[in-house]
Amino acid sequence: MPPKIATDLVLSAQDIHKSFGAQEVLKGITLGARNHDVISILGTSGSGKSTFLRCLNCLEVPNSGSVAVHGEEIVFRNGRIGDQRQIERLRRHLGMVFQQFNLWTHRTVLENVMEGPVQVKRMPKAEARDLAEGLLARVGLADRMGHYPAMLSGGQQQRVAIARALAMEPDVILFDEPTSALDPELVGEVLKVMQDLAAEGRTMIVVTHEMAFARDVSTEVVFLNEGRIAEQGPPEKLFDHPETEVFARFISKTR
Ligand code: ADP
Ligand code: MG
Repeated sequence: MPPKIATDLVLSAQDIHKSFGAQEVLKGITLGARNHDVISILGTSGSGKSTFLRCLNCLEVPNSGSVAVHGEEIVFRNGRIGDQRQIERLRRHLGMVFQQFNLWTHRTVLENVMEGPVQVKRMPKAEARDLAEGLLARVGLADRMGHYPAMLSGGQQQRVAIARALAMEPDVILFDEPTSALDPELVGEVLKVMQDLAAEGRTMIVVTHEMAFARDVSTEVVFLNEGRIAEQGPPEKLFDHPETEVFARFISKTR
């Protein structure tokens, strides 16, 4: 068994570096999430937010640094991972919701949500169906279970994607700009679901441009700038007393 490090962090990243070719996108990011934390990650386009989120679940392999879930640490050296099975274990603890929903277009809404529990967790179909129906009802889609994704609005599709992530019972849910692809009138219904999840005590890391969500829902805000954390702290502190010029400029533009 890999070594367990003593920690109260559900998910943590230590000194993550990631380059694409000669471009160093992440220049040493360290971040930890405790149970029930809702961490909003802010930053201008190209600052490395998606890359960081993808490093957390190893969709991108960092050049160096480490990621730990429940104290099981995965160390990256020279952009490689020692043990592929560690990644599979890591991913079982993490859910991900993408900007573009990434639903299976040839499967119904219900099938999209059942797929993970049946295929990955080997859950019996009847049980997976009950689970999926319950989750879809919770995100307000009880009457859409037999529809195909293309028949739904963007907001509905994103709520399916959230139900699909929840079906795997993740310890932490990672969101990458979940409302950025939506028409403005559909943003609220998705934010409402995310707010409910936060109120339930779900641990979430959310890359977002929704300043009201960052300020009112998150427990911690992180501002990424040029591959580094430029500011970090409770939202009221950051928004009311930005310490860096670059973050002050960022929030003044988004008001
Ligand atoms: P953000 O999500 O903050 O907008 P990204 O993490 O997507 O930023 O991208 C950060 C930088 O890394 C950008 O310059 C982007 O072009 C580059 N980048 C991201 N993914 C790749 C990739 N797969 N190959 C090459 N460059 C990439
Ligand atoms: Mg991005």
